[in-house]
Amino acid sequence: MKFIPLSSPDIRQADIDAVTEVLMSGMLVQGINVNKFEDSFCRVTGSKSAIAVSNGTATMHLALIALGIGKGDEVIVPAFSYIATANVVELVGATPVFVDIDLATFNIDVSKIEHNISKKTKAIIPVHEFGLACDIEKVMHIANKYNLHVIEDAACALGATQNNKSVGTFGTFGSFSFHPRKAISSGEGGIVSVQDSILDRKIRILRNHGIEYVDGSMEFVEAGFNYRMTDFQAALVASQMTRFNEILTTKRSLVDGYYSLINCNRVSLPTVPYDRPHTWQTFHVLINESINRDKLIQAMKDNGIGTNYGAQCIPAQKYYYKKYRLNSGEDYPNAWKAYKTGLALPIYEKLNSGQIEYISEIINKLTK
Ligand SMILES: *Cc1c(COP(=O)(O)O)cnc(C)c1O
Repeated sequence: MKFIPLSSPDIRQADIDAVTEVLMSGMLVQGINVNKFEDSFCRVTGSKSAIAVSNGTATMHLALIALGIGKGDEVIVPAFSYIATANVVELVGATPVFVDIDLATFNIDVSKIEHNISKKTKAIIPVHEFGLACDIEKVMHIANKYNLHVIEDAACALGATQNNKSVGTFGTFGSFSFHPRKAISSGEGGIVSVQDSILDRKIRILRNHGIEYVDGSMEFVEAGFNYRMTDFQAALVASQMTRFNEILTTKRSLVDGYYSLINCNRVSLPTVPYDRPHTWQTFHVLINESINRDKLIQAMKDNGIGTNYGAQCIPAQKYYYKKYRLNSGEDYPNAWKAYKTGLALPIYEKLNSGQIEYISEIINKLTK
């Protein structure tokens, strides 16, 4: 049997044709295809506006700068996420304040947010981890009570909703990534959704060297970045966007297979709250502590299956524990546990039900 990788993007002929057309046109940098992609993203998510940029991390970096968050400010982030969620806070000179997660959903434990809010807190960056919306309604309730901005890290959660409203449209900003590990990909790429027109303008200026067009002439009004997306990347991801619902349906039926076939009581499967359908960017299980997770990853590999841990316990990474002297095991026990015992299994459009059966059979056997 051929090796089953943990993830694999599905690039089809139509996607390749869309890219080729842009390459042949000679118009490579940000142009009409970026505009069209921004429009189609807004139609799919219901966002008022969206700005496509060079990657998911850049979206959050720009959002923090547009809000004027920097030195002396605190930003609340979950202790378990991809490291970029905290790095962007460091990059603007602010301080990340970590909050532990809920082990059933791997999302921020909303009940632990309030006592981490101080006079210095300016924003919350909740993550919709692994493609499942966090309880963003409750996060917004807290944010409104304390007058805080919310930047939703929806990097891996395109299509996720709470009560039928798209992630990325609750907060001041929503941040999405199109890295090949996400549902649709432009290679590198991201988009930031925004509902406020003044902030929308700020982000567009910061994306493109601080340029503003006033009465048709160009002025440099900020010290901006070059965080633009290229037009062929936009064409690539826009082409995949047209079959996004199909991708979601396929992944959901593959995951149903995992739920019915994985039956070892030393593997716990994720919980999906009734008001928040999962989009399964990652299928992430917890392995009982009696089993060595890292040895299990190796054993799965020996059986032809790629798996890995799901995300980092951020305060346990060298830069953060050295700077803030944090003890993750004590201070963030759930994030620590998810980091040490979590396992991401293959889930993507190109898998078939036979492969899901095989993966389930092997994991049942190895964890028995
Ligand atoms: C992928 C990811 C990012 C980073 O996105 P890039 O496009 O790789 O910069 C940030 N946060 C989360 C939760 C992610 O999954």
